Amino acid sequence: MSTVIGLKCRECGADYPKVAAHVCETCFGPLEVVYDYRAVARRMTREVVESRPRDLWRYRELLPVEGEPSVGLHSGFTPLVRADRLAREFGVAELWLKDDSVNHPTFSYKDRVVSVSICKAIELGFDTVSCASTGNLANSVSAHAARAGLLCYVFIPHDLEKGKVVGSAIYGPRVVAIEGNYDDVNRLCSEIADKYGWAFVNVNLRPYYTEGAKTYGFEIAEQLGWKLPRHVVVPTAGGTILPKVAKAFKELRDIGLVGDPLPAIYTAQAAGCAPVVQALHRGADLITPVKPNTIAKSIAIGNPADGYYVLKAVRESGGWGESVTDAEIVAGIRLLARTEGIFTEPAGGTTVAVTKKLVEQGRIPRDESIVVCVTGNGYKTLEAVDGAVEQPFTIGSRLADFDALYARLGDIPAKRAALQ
Ligand SMILES: *Cc1c(COP(=O)(O)O)cnc(C)c1O
Ligand SMILES: [Zn+2]
Repeated sequence: MSTVIGLKCRECGADYPKVAAHVCETCFGPLEVVYDYRAVARRMTREVVESRPRDLWRYRELLPVEGEPSVGLHSGFTPLVRADRLAREFGVAELWLKDDSVNHPTFSYKDRVVSVSICKAIELGFDTVSCASTGNLANSVSAHAARAGLLCYVFIPHDLEKGKVVGSAIYGPRVVAIEGNYDDVNRLCSEIADKYGWAFVNVNLRPYYTEGAKTYGFEIAEQLGWKLPRHVVVPTAGGTILPKVAKAFKELRDIGLVGDPLPAIYTAQAAGCAPVVQALHRGADLITPVKPNTIAKSIAIGNPADGYYVLKAVRESGGWGESVTDAEIVAGIRLLARTEGIFTEPAGGTTVAVTKKLVEQGRIPRDESIVVCVTGNGYKTLEAVDGAVEQPFTIGSRLADFDALYARLGDIPAKRAALQ
């Protein structure tokens, strides 16, 4: 028996059945899944969760599927890594990385929202799945559709990184590149969803899709030993993950699985596309759309669908937000790789750099626990750092060739000492 009651308008409270709908017919507010929390609390104890396989379905009572999940059986439950070397760089006491750069099967947080929404698409009887994407979502929808044997169309801006394009095409969907930015892609996809009636995971299945993002928050709490951190730094693109991580913490408290105060949540954006951070700093409720111009393409959404809810969640939590330049993002990627051995894409470089900035500003105190969200993998976006890393030393194949190089470099022992 499912714990899902139905859908509800977030603005006017109108009730809807569990169908493929995402906006309220009367007020155009977004629809959200409603659960029977008493039933959830009865069934979803720590012991029950811990006895289940290590994937995102271990929290299934708080996910909007009816029967046994049919896809995403290996997605989620990514590492929460204690980052002491990075903590030392920042001068903070307790730092953690929630590392979705190794999510299965397409190496980003999108494997969570796609697992849930494709599962729902199958339940609802769709044969074609689709999405409007900045890259990672297209990768994940393509992979999950292949495994489920569904037809698939993915829509992306024309100027994405090669790894993101090939990383979709390999699974055999139709990849459609739009001459425009993500906001143009998204507008077109709303029209296509209406006309063709496909399951667009982040359009008409959006209420189910966004719920999948809660599992990122559930895992942080469980992996800290059913405790909540004090501060969480989250990237913002369309505004799905941040409010859903906040909701996840709140739900765990409501059903009694954790008892700590709710964390302060911080939004991280690239300076070249920071409409939410700008509204936050202005003290405004309304987000003024921008034209994106940044290397952080996966989070380059100039008119975020759920930006308002990001502002709301950040303010209610007592958090804040910052943006960082492309140069700071590249430095963040390199710093994370150098200190913790994790290669993230520009979205992760953004959260690392924003965390540094917020600590330096005194917004995040140095003696309290901090989780930094690492949501995507650097191997997909080599272009972003190609010019910023040391190029290989090409030498002959004789030992003498290497001896000469080693002698010339000379700084290696000094470097090694510096790394201790
Ligand atoms: C999509 C994405 C995000 C965040 O997007 P939201 O729409 O705000 O949930 C963050 N990081 C990566 C790598 C992404 O692909
Ligand atoms: Zn409404």
